Amino acid sequence: MYSVAEVDQEICGATKCRLCTQFCPEGNTILYDEVKGTAYVAVDRCKGCEICVGICDDLAKHHAIKMLPIDQVKNGFDISKVGFKRTLVDSE
Ligand code: SF4
Ligand code: SF4
Repeated sequence: MYSVAEVDQEICGATKCRLCTQFCPEGNTILYDEVKGTAYVAVDRCKGCEICVGICDDLAKHHAIKMLPIDQVKNGFDISKVGFKRTLVDSE
């Protein structure tokens, strides 16, 4: 089991910050949802490097990103036995 980043959307959404999205070394992995006004992580692309955690904790000082075992991630994705599937629950 490996860990990926998860954004606390309540904490992040209370800021106007987008800082972490500029530092993730993986393209299109930590993204910004303009509708919700928060960052979120495409967990099937996240390599678990934890750079975004350091950016949010030490540079932005918002402490909104935690590393979670991939089977415990809940924001925005369903994890099934056949892979990852983006849910449309929040966007419809
Ligand atoms: S650095 Fe933290 S507060 Fe800023 S956008 Fe990323 S998750 Fe949100
Ligand atoms: S843990 Fe690394 S790869 Fe994953 S979202 Fe954060 S910076 Fe990107």
